[in-house]
Amino acid sequence: MKRIAIFPGSFDPFTKGHENIVQRAIPLFDEIVIGLGVNNKKQYMFDTESRIKHIQSLFPNQNVVVEAYTGLTVDFCKEKKAGYLLRGLRNTNDFEFEKAIGQMNKDLNGIETVFLITDKEFGAVSSTIIREIKINGGDVSQFVTNLNFLIINK
Ligand code: ADP
Repeated sequence: MKRIAIFPGSFDPFTKGHENIVQRAIPLFDEIVIGLGVNNKKQYMFDTESRIKHIQSLFPNQNVVVEAYTGLTVDFCKEKKAGYLLRGLRNTNDFEFEKAIGQMNKDLNGIETVFLITDKEFGAVSSTIIREIKINGGDVSQFVTNLNFLIINK
């Protein structure tokens, strides 16, 4: 059985913190599907296609694929025949939130969630804060690799 993991998130944008989690998970799985969750009721700062191309640019030759999905993450796991979810933990807030979701996903579908604790240098990196900086004209290039791939939604 191939060990396939889904790394789900909004990735608006995909940060060096996300990148670090995926790099460290590559040796653990046969394939990682980075699932860009799209909720049609939600406004994203960065264009979806550009977010996909951006993430693809970071993982060119490895067993990492990027796909957008709508609906429940567990249904996307079934579609991809993935037995694992991958999530990153920065702090106790992440932990409490992820614990509840992880336990419910296990009950719903028997999917195991694998958590990696963020490396020290990425603990403060957050997509929300990056958007805030960007809106106010700040430079976010130290937090996002290949920033030039990203297009802001009009
Ligand atoms: P969501 O919309 O599901 O919160 P995000 O795009 O914010 O998605 O994050 C996806 C995953 O990456 C989550 O597991 C989140 O905890 C993790 N993550 C976000 N930022 C970091 C970081 N700096 N270091 C490690 N993990 C992170």
